[in-house]
Amino acid sequence: MTEVPENVMETQDLIPYILSYTSRILTDEIVKNYSKKLEEYINNVSINADDHILNIIKNLEHPICPRCGKSMVLRTARKGSNKGSQFWGCSNFPSCRITKELV
Ligand SMILES: [Zn+2]
Repeated sequence: MTEVPENVMETQDLIPYILSYTSRILTDEIVKNYSKKLEEYINNVSINADDHILNIIKNLEHPICPRCGKSMVLRTARKGSNKGSQFWGCSNFPSCRITKELV
């Protein structure tokens, strides 16, 4: 068995490890400034958590093109009997014209 390095640990050992460092490196003012910046950032993020999760799920669900292996993207039919309906089209279009029905 290899020896575990000092900075690799189990989760429950993390807090005691952090607390073992007692010398101050950052001043109160620096910490305050960073807290303020973080808070401003959090308050200004325009996308909410639900939309963010939906986006992730949507991206995960992108099928892979069976012909060229590129990811497929949602497209909207511009003409024909399916005009206005969505389908998966290869992102490699027009080189690859593979499409897939949106389920
Ligand atoms: Zn393709």
